[in-house]
Amino acid sequence: MNDAVPYGAIEAGGTKWVCAVGTGPDDIRAIQRFPTTTPEETLTSCVDFFRRQGALQAIGIGTFGPVDLNHASPTYGYITSTPKPGWKNTDVVGAFKSSLGLPVALDTDVNAALLGEVKWGAAQGLTDAIYVTVGTGIGGGAMVNGHLAHGLLHPEFGHMFIPRDPSDTFAGACSYHGDCLEGLAAGPALEARWKVAGETMAADHPAWALEAGYLAYALVNMTCLLSPQRIIVGGGVGGNPALLSRVRERFQTILNGYLQAPALLDGIDGYLVSPGLEGRSGILGAIALAQLEYGSL
Ligand code: ZN
Repeated sequence: MNDAVPYGAIEAGGTKWVCAVGTGPDDIRAIQRFPTTTPEETLTSCVDFFRRQGALQAIGIGTFGPVDLNHASPTYGYITSTPKPGWKNTDVVGAFKSSLGLPVALDTDVNAALLGEVKWGAAQGLTDAIYVTVGTGIGGGAMVNGHLAHGLLHPEFGHMFIPRDPSDTFAGACSYHGDCLEGLAAGPALEARWKVAGETMAADHPAWALEAGYLAYALVNMTCLLSPQRIIVGGGVGGNPALLSRVRERFQTILNGYLQAPALLDGIDGYLVSPGLEGRSGILGAIALAQLEYGSL
């Protein structure tokens, strides 16, 4: 039994918030899920969960966003312009800091998941990697030279623009941009275009070829921009077994041999990969965030 003082961790999502206490994949001491309702209700449930636990070193939060990660900003730690009803301008860090009196480390859900994968999963030992999730939305986190990328705000890979397939007449489902990547390829777009939920779509449904093409363009863009050593593709849609092998094929076709790294040629199966932490990247990543910023372990 590991007797180190554990961390609190939160994977804050649009449908549920997962709270956990532990120090890593083999040491999760408590875990509970709370539905995302109103900020007041959900935040209170999470705070109460941590109050029921023993001593904690710090809290790590990976959240949906957009979120303000600029420490110098008066709205640091706020979820900002989210389309999620009721959650615009919600002070997430403040809610936990003031009520629990603990240091709070914050990043995007996808940066947290990436950090978890770098520490314990499919990107161990790498300094440059990307984690992309394709589900109800599309998000991406990046590590560049060993640091999680934030920049001006934080990367928002889901809202990049990619060429439309000429056969695709769907207008797009992003409330801000219509046919950005998320508008064309996230779960709600699949459902609106084909009238079938992504999770229940048969492996030979024509949706997968179109989806693979859109994701392949996005992953090629990421590779050309940041030159990651590996890209992890997860999420309810991204994790569908019908998808990843098609994406690898399309990725190579689009890139057309321009980049001559072995990882992008014969090694493609090890370049575009599924998460190694099997649905736990986000919550373990939140532990890793707290550890990275405030840890003594
Ligand atoms: Zn968009």
